[in-house]
Amino acid sequence: MSRPVTLVTGGSRGIGAATCVRLAAEGHDLALGYVSDAGAAEETANAVRAAGARCVTVRADTSDEADVERLFDTAATELGPVTGLVNNAGVTGPLGRLADARTEDLRRVVNVNFLGYLLCCRRAARDMAVHGSGAIVNVSSAAATLGSPGDYVHYAATKAAIDALTVGLAKELGPDGIRVNAVAPGVINTDIHATMGDPDRPARAAAATPLGRPGEPAEIAGAIAWLLSADASYTTGAVLRISGGR
Ligand code: NAP
Repeated sequence: MSRPVTLVTGGSRGIGAATCVRLAAEGHDLALGYVSDAGAAEETANAVRAAGARCVTVRADTSDEADVERLFDTAATELGPVTGLVNNAGVTGPLGRLADARTEDLRRVVNVNFLGYLLCCRRAARDMAVHGSGAIVNVSSAAATLGSPGDYVHYAATKAAIDALTVGLAKELGPDGIRVNAVAPGVINTDIHATMGDPDRPARAAAATPLGRPGEPAEIAGAIAWLLSADASYTTGAVLRISGGR
């Protein structure tokens, strides 16, 4: 049997990087998308190759249609038809109340977290329908249902949109043999918190989390790998919350 070819956006760091490494261990070949950190992308790619998988890295801004098309084209040319998509690349923008947010920050979050996911899902739907099979996992957030008041309601709203996208697209693509699911992580130990100016967020979140700690990227990667696997063959339209009980 041929190996699955999975495209992971934002595969250079954090949850995406852990997902690439986990999928490589489970026999996937990987197309790893990133936007700026070529060093991190190469480091993750090396870990993927060390696990015996093929890996191509592609610099591509997922909010840009031409970049997304090039990302998928490169994956198909280098590795073969894409059988799986992990829509993971995401940003939060600075913390704060909506009343104080700058339009350019709102636009960036919507463009990366929502338009970018739509562009990647659209291309995956077109490609996978040709083969009559495929699986998509969208990385949402527990913020979609918590709302994140005072922090980033705009980010939470984009993630709620991803949940709706997941439910609708699963129904639309089911007849084509394509499954669409999402994971909704709680607070996970990655760079995203320091990037938005709050490096202590995971430690602080522990107190509000029934399991008493933030999550690790590998704990999300395992769920994504399951959703892509044959063990999840009857699972579609699901939003799997992985938030330590929050
Ligand atoms: P992270 O550590 O900050 O990594 C972000 C990844 O996305 C990097 O690989 C980055 O590439 C890439 N990226 C950012 N903007 C991009 C763009 N425009 N085009 C292509 N790639 C882009 O983030 P993370 O915490 O792993 O988050 C991954 C996903 O999980 C996001 O969708 C996030 O909303 C979601 N999530 C995270 C948490 C959490 O607590 N960490 C909780 C819930 C949901 P470069 O390396 O090139 O910059």
